[in-house]
Amino acid sequence: MDTRVISTKNQAEAGTNLGAELIKSGEIVAFPTETVYGLGANGFDEAAVQKIFEAKGRPNDNPLILHVAKKSDVKELWAHVPKSANLLMDTFWPGPLTLIFNRSDKIPDAVTAGLDTVAVRMPQDKTARMLIQKAGVPIAAPSANLSGSPSPTKAEHVLSDLGGKIPLILDGGDCRVGVESTVLSLVGRPTILRPGAVTHEMLEAVIGEVRIADCVLSPMKEGATALSPGMKYKHYAPKARVKVVCGEPKNVARRILELYVQNNIRGVVCEIAATEQTRQFYRGKNYVIMGDRQDPATLCKNLFSTLRELDERCDLILAEGTDTKDSGLAFMNRLLRAAGFEIEKV
Ligand code: AMP
Ligand code: MG
Repeated sequence: MDTRVISTKNQAEAGTNLGAELIKSGEIVAFPTETVYGLGANGFDEAAVQKIFEAKGRPNDNPLILHVAKKSDVKELWAHVPKSANLLMDTFWPGPLTLIFNRSDKIPDAVTAGLDTVAVRMPQDKTARMLIQKAGVPIAAPSANLSGSPSPTKAEHVLSDLGGKIPLILDGGDCRVGVESTVLSLVGRPTILRPGAVTHEMLEAVIGEVRIADCVLSPMKEGATALSPGMKYKHYAPKARVKVVCGEPKNVARRILELYVQNNIRGVVCEIAATEQTRQFYRGKNYVIMGDRQDPATLCKNLFSTLRELDERCDLILAEGTDTKDSGLAFMNRLLRAAGFEIEKV
């Protein structure tokens, strides 16, 4: 199959028209959102949704998020709309917050992987909303990467993972946020299943106490019932080994340099995923600055593209860990998974 790439910078109308036609006819289309690129299908069409799982190689028990163009669309997707959801939608939609609640009976099992609940989000990205509006249905979409690899934040990432497998990629340039949406379950006590740019602190300011699921910063226990099925899979991982070092920036840099030299002697090609605060320690070494520790959203924005870039040219990525305040929680959640939880505290 030929994969067309259409830039939405100058062809937003034509691109979303074609995208919507493809979605309506049961095809799958990659499109930009403010978080990462999504791979979308008509959320009411079981066969179309199945194509997403095939193209990505995604396990069937990992449910998808339904993307809507307006808040009132949740009425036909959920059994009812809880009060907390109304507050959260008014504050954070459109935006990078996915809400989970009991599903209505309109939704095919393939979307929810047979769960009683369904995840819904209204993206902020203009192209994404235009596409959903024109398609006239909720668009079921996971990230547009091969299952397990780092999520795509540029159209090139989608093309490299799914080129030849999907008919269309809408190219909206670099994603603003760079990590997937915050996933918040409203079934029982509000619980963050996956952290994102709408942070724990921001959510608590609106609805009071919000829990953070154990699986956010630690590996899912073997046999534990999957509260968030996505968390049980190896995720976001490049082919290179990733090792995370956490602690005071100066100590982190010292330990990373030690590991760098030890591994180089053994012929292991290393790259350092660093932060603004440690730049001066790495002169003469292979390193990339992911962002600023004082502004963890910058780390989120660059994490996946850095992992993809470094993967091309090394065997071992030595990555700096940070604290988990604000967007630091989303950053560490993704980084620890990319590293298969190989972490050293100094
Ligand atoms: P992705 O689309 O790749 O961003 O993945 C969607 C994420 O949302 C995965 O981690 C899923 O496991 C999670 N998810 C979607 N629907 C549900 C649901 N009904 N209950 C729990 N987690 C969900
Ligand atoms: Mg994904």
